[in-house]
Amino acid sequence: MSVDGTGVAHEGDTALRRLRAVANAPIFSYQDAFFGGETVGGPMHSTAETSRKTVSAVIRILAGEKPVDVRTEPIPLASPRYDWRELRRWGISANNLPPDSEILFREPNVWERYRWQMLMITVVFLVQAGLISGLLHERRRRRVAEVESRQRLAELAHANRYSAVGELTTSIAHELSQPLGSILTNTETAELMLQGTSPDLDEIRHILADIRRDDQRASEVIRRLRNVLKKSPFEARDIGLGDTVRDVIGFVAAVAVGRRITLTYMPALDDLRIKGDPVQLQQVVLNLIINAMDAISDSEAGKREVNVWTVQSGNQAEIRVADTGPGIVASDLANVFNPFFTTKPQGMGMGLAIARTIVEAHHGTISAENQPSGGALFMIRLPIIR
Ligand code: ADP
Repeated sequence: MSVDGTGVAHEGDTALRRLRAVANAPIFSYQDAFFGGETVGGPMHSTAETSRKTVSAVIRILAGEKPVDVRTEPIPLASPRYDWRELRRWGISANNLPPDSEILFREPNVWERYRWQMLMITVVFLVQAGLISGLLHERRRRRVAEVESRQRLAELAHANRYSAVGELTTSIAHELSQPLGSILTNTETAELMLQGTSPDLDEIRHILADIRRDDQRASEVIRRLRNVLKKSPFEARDIGLGDTVRDVIGFVAAVAVGRRITLTYMPALDDLRIKGDPVQLQQVVLNLIINAMDAISDSEAGKREVNVWTVQSGNQAEIRVADTGPGIVASDLANVFNPFFTTKPQGMGMGLAIARTIVEAHHGTISAENQPSGGALFMIRLPIIR
């Protein structure tokens, strides 16, 4: 370790260091001076302890004691110590070391070195995971609540349709009785003609065509009635707004005639496509038209008008329902959409509240105002789809 074969002296651990650099096996030594650098470890002599004992023996000899009288106890090997870095280098497991071994120079791993930072990251991660799962849970609950509220809305809307149709029953009955009456008269006429000796077959053909037309008219009334009363869950799909409104106009046109009201419909030039439930949107328009007709019931004969338009306004489709009635009292304007707000003796006050709920479920808005020329104007805005 100190002088090589050619007589070259090596200072300190120079030789051992060079040996270790090329060694293909672990180096063990009982010299603790080499521990912490080149050797793996093991039970060791303490150089400091040996030096201390040697120095105290020398001092005693210098003080005059005979060397033979100076007896020193042999120094036993200290409990084994190992260098963690060397154990790792040679793949020696701590389980294979003698009992009571001490392992030194352990290098802390990432977890030990950045304990606080890692702890903070873990806490942040856990909090974030908790928040995310909380939000997901909330989203699921919201979805369930949305579905439930849509079901309730569909049920409420259905009940409201019954009440709207109830209001129109007299007019609908009248509308049905007209073609039925014509059919009866025509049938009787045809029967009488057939009793004659030479019935005019051409005339009878005309009568039959009339009967067929009247029958179709009555069937159409029933079809529309069925459509309005149909119980269906909320179902939004791509629909044309013009046709949806036209269907309602068709349904109430005869009612308007019966009440001597001029009902006009001006559809937008372009087909306005929106995403919605046609039955529910028709109900909104129906409610507005029924209200408009109610509002003008006391107006004089020449001033009974209900005008309905569909127009495009930017990326919104608008339905406007205007009447020539007295309009809405200014202080009531803010309340007309509230549930149970009514100024009618037999009113329920649910028509506009349901209309607003339906429009909002379609991501739209509904508003009411008084026209400068008199009468109320209701406006529904719905987003147009591309
Ligand atoms: P109801 O028709 O049962 O009263 P609505 O919710 O449909 O319930 O209407 C609420 C109230 O709004 C009506 O009572 C009326 O005062 C007012 N209103 C609605 N439409 C009009 C209108 N076109 N002109 C004047 N007032 C209206």
